[in-house]
Amino acid sequence: MLAEPPSLLPPSPLRLRLDRDALAANWRTLDRLSGPAAAGAAVKANAYGLGTAHVVPVLAAAGCRNWFVAHWQEVPELLRHVPPAQVAVLHGPGTDADAAYARAAGVRPVLNSMPQVQRWLSAGGGPCDLMVDTGINRLGLAMSELGDPAIGLLEIDCCMSHLASADEQSTQNSLQLARFGEVVQGVTAKRYSLANSAGIGLGADFHFALTRPGIALYGGVPTSALAGRIAQVARPQASVLQVRSLAAGEQVGYNATFTASRPMRVGVVAMGYADGFLRCWAGKDVFLWQGERLPVLGRISMDMTVVDLSRAHDCGEGDWLMLDYTLPEAAAESGLSQYELLTLLGIRFARQS
Ligand SMILES: *Cc1c(COP(=O)(O)O)cnc(C)c1O
Repeated sequence: MLAEPPSLLPPSPLRLRLDRDALAANWRTLDRLSGPAAAGAAVKANAYGLGTAHVVPVLAAAGCRNWFVAHWQEVPELLRHVPPAQVAVLHGPGTDADAAYARAAGVRPVLNSMPQVQRWLSAGGGPCDLMVDTGINRLGLAMSELGDPAIGLLEIDCCMSHLASADEQSTQNSLQLARFGEVVQGVTAKRYSLANSAGIGLGADFHFALTRPGIALYGGVPTSALAGRIAQVARPQASVLQVRSLAAGEQVGYNATFTASRPMRVGVVAMGYADGFLRCWAGKDVFLWQGERLPVLGRISMDMTVVDLSRAHDCGEGDWLMLDYTLPEAAAESGLSQYELLTLLGIRFARQS
């Protein structure tokens, strides 16, 4: 097999520009808003799609010392950048192999059920975290299980729960807070943690010792309490592969869903739904060229999107168009969540910081 000389591989026509200063500033803001609690960082799913290798060193330099991933398979990449004792794995030990790996790697499993508690103890135990369900009914021990003697045998670093509706004014928040108060009374741990990004905005009662922001680190604004305090981090860009001139009546793309009503100049951009630019963006003016907003014409293809260049006369082949990826606005425009907008961004984007 011949290896491709890497120096000959041309750069990607897709870039994801990451603003390191904004990322660091967002962590500092969330840490400050957490009061005496420390802010950690949820870096699961490749740091919400932005790239663990780009994100984690920036957050570590800003002062972050607590990291959360979901899958065991996400641990090795994270351990290239941070010490194992700072890492917690949210899905917990679902198998004996998971427990053995946690002990060998020196990372903490988050125990989510009595079988996970038993499995961890059988494997020899050691520092762990404990997730208690206070109403989201996703992962976590039931409140009724907290009296089990096996829990007293655990070496719990962080005892946590997760809010279901922190991004809303909901009575569920105070209900979960009250239940978590009982958890704090009933479970011995070094630290307690309840708040995600939106939970930080709910105020000091929700902060405990450690907060676990994710989306807001990366520029998401999940609650109005954080509005104006969070900076945009991710800016996708795509280059123009070809410029075409359409005559009135000509049609664009699969199933001809767009028909030109006048002669127009259009650009074929090297980005499609395989890159996370889903078909819900059809017809939206999400592209930017020197401050002008440019609409998407017709269906989005797997690797290509056609853009109206009528207002971008000087934009030509090889030029870069920006996506307006201001997350709250882009979510409202696309119908996707801010979380989906980030985690969708595909591997063909060259992540650059
Ligand atoms: C993903 C996750 C977070 C971060 O949530 P955001 O809403 O992105 O701030 C915090 N805690 C747990 C348990 C999570 O799974």
